[in-house]
Amino acid sequence: ESVIVAIDGPSGTGKSSTSRAVAAELGLSYLDTGAQYRAITWWMLTNGIDVDDPGAVAAVCGKPVIESGTDPLAPAISVDGADAAGPIRTREVTSRVSAVSAVPEVRARITGLQRAIAAAAEKGIVVEGRDIGTTVLPGADVKIFLTASPEARAARRSGELKGSEAADLASTREALIRRDAADSSRKTSPLAKAGDAVEVDTTDLTLPQVIECVVALVEE
Ligand code: C5P
Repeated sequence: ESVIVAIDGPSGTGKSSTSRAVAAELGLSYLDTGAQYRAITWWMLTNGIDVDDPGAVAAVCGKPVIESGTDPLAPAISVDGADAAGPIRTREVTSRVSAVSAVPEVRARITGLQRAIAAAAEKGIVVEGRDIGTTVLPGADVKIFLTASPEARAARRSGELKGSEAADLASTREALIRRDAADSSRKTSPLAKAGDAVEVDTTDLTLPQVIECVVALVEE
C-alpha cells in the first residue's frame, strides 16, 4: 500500500537532505514544494512582474508550466520546459519567494499541483514544505515537523551557499529569520506544525541520526 509522509519546518533544519534520503531508503517518490514556489518566483522575476504587487502576481500565476521530478536521487524542476534547478537557488529568488508564496492564488495553484503529484505516486511519497501536514495533505500517514536553533540553521544554510552567493554568517542568519517570520505570519497556510505532527529538534543531531529517526517514525 502507499504511504504519504509530510515533512515540514523552516529552512536550515536539514529538511531537504532528510526528505530525499528517507524517500530513497524507503523506495518512495519525493517532492520539494519549496522548489515549486521558487520556480514560480523565478518566472515572475524573469518576466518583469512586480512581485510586491499581489494583484499583478495573482493575475499571471496560472501561466508558467511547472514540472517537478519525483526521483529522490535526481531532484528536478523545470519552468516552461527549461531546467530551473540552478536559477531558483539564487539569493534574489530566495529573498523574493516569501512575497510570491503569500499570494492566495499562487498557493491555490501550487497546492493543486502538489496534490496531483502525491495522488499519482504509486508507492507513496515524501513531501517536504511548510504547510504540507496542515493544508496540502492533512490526511498524510506520517507528519514530521523539523526544528533547530537559529544558530544551527544559519550555520547549515551558509555551508550550502557557494561562490558569489556566499555571505557571512550574521547576514545569513538575519535573512533566514526574516524569511521565516514572513512565512509564519502570512494569512494563507503559514509555516506551522500540524497538531498531530511529531516534532524533531535537529540542533544536536547529525544528518544520519535525523534520517534514522524519521525512517523509524515512518516504519512504526
Ligand atoms: O524550502 P525552501 O527554502 O526552498 O522554500 C522556499 C520558500 O517557499 C519558503 O521560504 C516559503 O516562502 C515558500 N514555501 C511555502 N510553502 C511550502 C514550501 C515553501 O510557502 N510548502
